[in-house]
Amino acid sequence: MIVAASIMLAAAIAGLGAFALLQMRRDALENASEASSNLALTLERSITRNLQVYELSILGVMDAMQDPRIMALAPSVRQRVLFDRSSNAEDMGSLLATDALGNLVLDSRVWPPRPVNVADRDYFQVHLTSPNAGVFVSRPFQPRMTPESKSIGISRRISTPDGSFAGIVVGTLRVNYFRKLFDGMSLGSGGTLTLVRTDGIIVMRRPYEDASIGRDISHSDSFTPLLHGERGSFVGMAALDGVQRLYSFRRMPGYPLIVVVGLSLDDVLAAWKTRAWLFSSLIAVVDILVIALSVLLSRQWRRRMDMERHLRLMVNTDGLTGLGSRRALDDAADVEWRRARRHGQPFSLLMLDVDHFKQFNDRYGHLAGDDALASVADCIQRHIRRPGDFAGRYGGEEFAVLLPNTDAAGAAAVADTIRAAVQNLHIENPDSALGELTISIGVVTDTPDAGGNRTFGELRALLRAGDEALYQAKRAGRNRVAESAVSGAAVAAV
Ligand code: GH3
Ligand code: MG
Ligand code: MG
Repeated sequence: MIVAASIMLAAAIAGLGAFALLQMRRDALENASEASSNLALTLERSITRNLQVYELSILGVMDAMQDPRIMALAPSVRQRVLFDRSSNAEDMGSLLATDALGNLVLDSRVWPPRPVNVADRDYFQVHLTSPNAGVFVSRPFQPRMTPESKSIGISRRISTPDGSFAGIVVGTLRVNYFRKLFDGMSLGSGGTLTLVRTDGIIVMRRPYEDASIGRDISHSDSFTPLLHGERGSFVGMAALDGVQRLYSFRRMPGYPLIVVVGLSLDDVLAAWKTRAWLFSSLIAVVDILVIALSVLLSRQWRRRMDMERHLRLMVNTDGLTGLGSRRALDDAADVEWRRARRHGQPFSLLMLDVDHFKQFNDRYGHLAGDDALASVADCIQRHIRRPGDFAGRYGGEEFAVLLPNTDAAGAAAVADTIRAAVQNLHIENPDSALGELTISIGVVTDTPDAGGNRTFGELRALLRAGDEALYQAKRAGRNRVAESAVSGAAVAAV
């Protein structure tokens, strides 16, 4: 039970520890999710604002192109009116306007426009084929006129008054702008930032790799959840490097772009993992200690109980005969005496003494005497059968038998059976009258009368009477049973 209880305690400690660890893990994930959502929001706001400013410049050019007075200005003045300073901001490429064939008609960089045709670009084709494309964000492309880094185009359609296609206005933006923005953010070592079009084309990704710009991830598992709603968080495997990440994304209002923050689960849970290792090792040590201590304790306990049992047996058993010791006899006599009184039952006592044992000892020696005593004791034990009957060694070669709930006649019968059985052992004792070892027995019975009065007032009186009966048997010639003169009948006579 001690070990079982300790195992349960150990299991409880382990369970509590596991619960706390899981809670800590959940907290770590929640904190990370919150941090990545905040980061996604910051990026989304910053990028959206810049795109809006750029879009305003595009609208400004379109408005100006509708105005004949502006178009009639001298080219150097017109350039200044059309392209304000915002279009020259860092990482802004060129603001261009084309005719219906894709030839440049206005160029923020120079006048006259560079002789370039952009009819093959997606930002031109989309407005040519669908009049309602609105603001279009192009795939990343390598600019033709300058050996600059990759750019994207943000374009709008120019329509004639009757609605037919008259060209586009496009502003180019170096993807470097996003790269610098992303690089400034603090992420774990395994973190990623991705700006992706809603059709799955990557515009920028941190960590930066030239090959991943313009790549299509629309078929990857981690892309699909990005299309569910304006924002969200999920755990997924990255399409590009196969790392498990916690993703938070936000769609840019008004633009077909999504910004995605991915925190590597390894980074997010690194601190937790260290703590979890420490914590679980500690719990394991405590559990092992608890169980080991309980095993030791239970072993000690068992040894102690064994010893107690052994000592009790030693104290209560007579070493030579195996009958009850004098001490056990006294205790049993006391208990049975009081029980008999409580229940108004008769209680009988036999006092037994071996006849002429001194001579037996003198003739055969003490060792043989001891063997004879053991045989007699065995004989006594074999002939008391009822539960509650008790035989003990009173001292030397004298024994006593307690017979609870047994009347005088029954006690005398038991006594005579024992006497006859000892005689039947046929142990030689030439100094005895029969030539055999015999015993004499005194019998005394404490009986209640109809009024509840008892023969004996106290146990000592009963013992004395038993002793007297024994001497009577001796005087009468030994090898016999004598009943005490003070009996139930005697009381009745009083
Ligand atoms: P009686 O018939 O009158 O009883 O004669 P007895 O010789 O038996 O007299 P008593 O009862 O006084 O005997 C006591 C003798 O019993 C003394 C001793 O020699 C012997 N005796 C007592 N205890 C032991 C014992 O533990 N072992 C042995 N071998 N002998 C014992
Ligand atoms: Mg004696
Ligand atoms: Mg004797």
